[in-house]
Amino acid sequence: MPDIIQLLPENIANQIAAGEVIQRPASAVKELLENAVDAGATEIQLFVNDAGKALVQVIDNGKGMSETDARMCFERHATSKIKNIDDLFHIKTMGFRGEALASIAGVAQVEIKTKKAGEITGTCIEIENSIVQSQQPVATQEGTNISMKNLFFNVPARRNFLKSNSSELRHIIDEFIRVAMAFPEIFFSLSSNGQEVFHLEKGSLKQRIIQILGNNYNSKLVSVKEETDYMNIFGFAGKPETAKKTRGDQYFFVNNRFIKSPYLNHAVMNAFAEMIPKDSFPMYTLFIEIDPSRLDINVHPTKQEIKFEDEKIIYAFVQSAVKHALAQFSITPTLDFDLDPFIQNSEAVSQPLTDAKKESISGGNLYKTFTQKNQAHFIEKRSDLTHWESTPFVPEKKLSLSEKYSNREDTFTDIQKHPDNGRALTGSNIQFHQSFIICETATGFLAVHQQNAHERVLYERFLNALKGKPVVTQRSLFPLSFQLSAPDAVMLLELLPDLVQLGYQIEPFGNNSFVIQGSPADVADGNEKNILEKMLEQYKHFNTETHFSSREKLLRSLAWQQSIKAGTVLTQDEINRLLEDLFNCDISNVTPNGKPVFFEFKKEELNKMFGR
Ligand code: ADP
Ligand code: MG
Repeated sequence: MPDIIQLLPENIANQIAAGEVIQRPASAVKELLENAVDAGATEIQLFVNDAGKALVQVIDNGKGMSETDARMCFERHATSKIKNIDDLFHIKTMGFRGEALASIAGVAQVEIKTKKAGEITGTCIEIENSIVQSQQPVATQEGTNISMKNLFFNVPARRNFLKSNSSELRHIIDEFIRVAMAFPEIFFSLSSNGQEVFHLEKGSLKQRIIQILGNNYNSKLVSVKEETDYMNIFGFAGKPETAKKTRGDQYFFVNNRFIKSPYLNHAVMNAFAEMIPKDSFPMYTLFIEIDPSRLDINVHPTKQEIKFEDEKIIYAFVQSAVKHALAQFSITPTLDFDLDPFIQNSEAVSQPLTDAKKESISGGNLYKTFTQKNQAHFIEKRSDLTHWESTPFVPEKKLSLSEKYSNREDTFTDIQKHPDNGRALTGSNIQFHQSFIICETATGFLAVHQQNAHERVLYERFLNALKGKPVVTQRSLFPLSFQLSAPDAVMLLELLPDLVQLGYQIEPFGNNSFVIQGSPADVADGNEKNILEKMLEQYKHFNTETHFSSREKLLRSLAWQQSIKAGTVLTQDEINRLLEDLFNCDISNVTPNGKPVFFEFKKEELNKMFGR
């Protein structure tokens, strides 16, 4: 038998390896922006065409590369950022794995023009499918100008996996924001199909946050700042009144690297507890600075997850820093500084410090910080707290609607069973608790949830409008204008054509502002702006559920937004019309999001219950 193992050709190995680092245009955006930051650039421009599928280009004024380096940078594991394994624990740069450019060159057509300071000519290299096509001297400005064209041109299967342009652009904007937020001292711009979406002048962190998240945070930010030998934290949290119904404006950075951490998010949420409604989310942009040797950032190829040497300390620190900040700005004068049982029991606080430990927290005085009484958030063991039980941290589990409703036990109802459309609704229909409607049917009665019913009715009405018959628009007498944050403006731009069908005549007015020229006849005058803002919030919430098309998300958001809420008194006419509309729907028993609209109570079953 001949031997059968072969080494893969380099370009194929690169294509396979690229899968880890480059999943979509936004991954390339992240890597290229980070390279520009690592190169010490003070101005970084990003251009994308076709949501990055056709082009991702980054121009920086950083230190550039020599001819040899420009050639070398596309080799796998080629990096200027680490030399040996020890360096891995002292990383100050964003990159270090030397994989990004090799991966990008493996799955796209790349052109790089780069020149070091003081050189007369630069180098231009074209490379595709990991194969160098050309290399020549070029006249170019100092810094690096790199273009990635036609991502996955040579891996059609992966190209087919890319989502709609609006979805890919959203990912790009997310990555752009994550880098731009961390480096307010650098100028950043983002242009999409030739239109500038972001233009972020150099400035303070506060200015950067407002540039990105919108002016409405102006004077609504609380500064968070605590310093210890173990770690520092700084940044801003939104005042409680800015908390939103959807998660979104929440950013954690560790040594300037954006990270996803449900654990630390929980710490901030805890600090806000009691100050905001349970189902809302505060804005925050927080930076943790910590000795890199106390972290492992190498646990994930895109480095968005990291491991801390001692998570509990970080948790306690973050929570108390945010609490302290909120208290200092006397947002709630009666803030209770009783100890969080979690912190109290965290090993760092409750266990005596052994010598070995002292050694390990070399020089750290986190302990002192936590026991200094002059700090508002001091932590001290109190005898009356000793009975506190340890409450292990359990991340919130969000049930999907189907999970929520799958194991519901309904004694004598069956929501799967659909009463005949247009069934004879006999007798009168009665609203009760300003939330439900009871209606008598030939075989019993229905208990209808008025908001859920209306959501279903609106959803189908809007769906039909998109399919053909547009909703009638009423021209506004006094056209209203409004401004959005840049990412929201991009989102709304994408939705405008569908919104026209739904009765909203909205025109872009430049600089992320819009004018409402007309709205559906049944939307109360003056309420349009409110409706649109809430709709966008809801839309963003759906955005995380990527399996919906943007149109589906829009429909669901609008239906939810405009539905009559619990607590609204309905006239007899409105009740009757709602029921009529409901039973004219194609599906009337569940909302678009899967909540039941009504339960049916059968006469026989009622009789049985009463022993008849
Ligand atoms: P890493 O960033 O992990 O080192 P990359 O593949 O992203 O790996 O880049 C390889 C090397 O190319 C970098 O270490 C750096 O020396 C050089 N390089 C990449 N982009 C730039 C840039 N925009 N300006 C200057 N040098 C760059
Ligand atoms: Mg890199």
